[in-house]
Amino acid sequence: MNLIQGDDRRESIFFPQCLDDYIDSNSEVRIIDQFVDSLNLRECGFLFPKEDPLGRGRAAYDPADLLKLFIYGYFNGIRSGRKLEKNCHINLEVIWLLKRLKPDFKTVCDFRKNNRKAFKQATTKFTLLCQELKLIAGETIAVDGTIIKASNNISKSWSSKKLEKNLKQTEVQIEQYLNDLEGLDDDPAPDSGQRKEALKHKLDYEQTKKIQLNEIKSVLDKSSKSHLSLTDPDSKTISKQGKSCVGYNVQTSVDSLNKLIVCCEVTDRINDLGLLSPMAQETKNLLELQEPCDLTADSGYYTLDDLKDCEDMGMIPYLPTVKKSSNVQQGLYGKGAFLYNSKEDTYLCPNKIILKKIRTTEQRGKRFHQYTHKSACGNCPLKLRCTKAKQRVLSRWEHEQYQERATKRILENKEMMATRKGTVEHPYGTIKTQFLSNGFLVRGKEMVQAECSLAHLAYNLKRVLNIMKFDDLIKTLGYRTGLYFKNVAINGLIRLCTKPIELKYNKGRPLSLWYTKFKRLHHESLFFTQPLKRELHAC
Ligand code: SF4
Repeated sequence: MNLIQGDDRRESIFFPQCLDDYIDSNSEVRIIDQFVDSLNLRECGFLFPKEDPLGRGRAAYDPADLLKLFIYGYFNGIRSGRKLEKNCHINLEVIWLLKRLKPDFKTVCDFRKNNRKAFKQATTKFTLLCQELKLIAGETIAVDGTIIKASNNISKSWSSKKLEKNLKQTEVQIEQYLNDLEGLDDDPAPDSGQRKEALKHKLDYEQTKKIQLNEIKSVLDKSSKSHLSLTDPDSKTISKQGKSCVGYNVQTSVDSLNKLIVCCEVTDRINDLGLLSPMAQETKNLLELQEPCDLTADSGYYTLDDLKDCEDMGMIPYLPTVKKSSNVQQGLYGKGAFLYNSKEDTYLCPNKIILKKIRTTEQRGKRFHQYTHKSACGNCPLKLRCTKAKQRVLSRWEHEQYQERATKRILENKEMMATRKGTVEHPYGTIKTQFLSNGFLVRGKEMVQAECSLAHLAYNLKRVLNIMKFDDLIKTLGYRTGLYFKNVAINGLIRLCTKPIELKYNKGRPLSLWYTKFKRLHHESLFFTQPLKRELHAC
């Protein structure tokens, strides 16, 4: 038979002389390497080991190498510390990326734990690079949330209601076993002894369970929380579409041009209400948007406050209108049948009667004006279709013009809902199946945010590799790396020039004013940004 044969394992072969020869010239691992080299890791917040001036102690791993390992790992769905360690030994791409370094799993996991806040900064740098490359336009942003499973089983998550129910069931069960045991005392059957033993076993189990439940209850009562997760204390039981899961509500804002993620925030909120304006603000700040930008989300975000806040900050919201009011459901005139006159601050009802403002009330911190005509409704021929009460009273939020504009906008631009779906569902499909399959691996909100940021970076990286030519991307990153080293070299040179002054006038100690300035210079971004130029000029 004609089959492809492999080489003889005992045959001597000539390996290429250089590790680089093993890696494909278009491998994404080269992009990861260049990207991390282009970052100022101190500025991102990565912790560097304390340097001993005498060079004592074992040398530590460079944070850049460990960051490369994590980005590569998440890009390829390898997330656990032990698996990453194993890949340092067997995976040629990792061997190339880490230049044959082999950190153990403890070092790898400690790096993730100690630098949990810095991963977000590294991800942000890549997002800004995408904006620089014009892959993020900042014209239409879609926001959505998804529930991702935490490292906490649902049986280890307790709410006071669930706890009460379980305690009650356990007590009933204990009562039942005690009664059964009592019945067996007078039972003359030969196997009654065996059955008694089995029942005692079950009784012991239920009594231990009751003690444990009472302990959890006392912890829950002492805490101010309404919910207690035993494995990951920050996670929550969240129900969606009839299914319950212990997890986190991950909020994402995605740019519609290339479906690249702009911001990714982990929250412990059980729904999306009130989360639109914080996401809009974060997106606006990150992209430094000067022009108004369209913002689209689903009806789960619909709150009056968010509509106003988003529009005020220049993020124009496109949200589907909320479900029909109770009046419309009952077949009565909805608020749309009444015309508002902003000049006179009155409403014109379907019977052409003017309804005037009669009072202002406050509900949940919001002011509502109420409008009616006391005498007209009683004799109105349309009353049966208008109200079941004595008279129709209309309620208007003091900023209702924002809501009216939002309703008008979405009716005139119905395609925005399709844009939202096509934009924001795309990343979730990829992230949930490829980068965070089976939920989060780590515990605690900060650690989960780190994992989410790495998944966000992996997704954007994958997307950019699909959009851009490999050579163009590697050239861009190479250019940035060159600028970074140039920046560091100039800062080092300036520091060297100040050294004699320090030695002469300050006993070798850094001059506080100069030192602060140069320390800041050292932490400036990759490019010569405005503040850096100013500092150089001042010096
Ligand atoms: S019931 Fe009152 S508010 Fe309604 S249409 Fe008649 S007059 Fe106008």
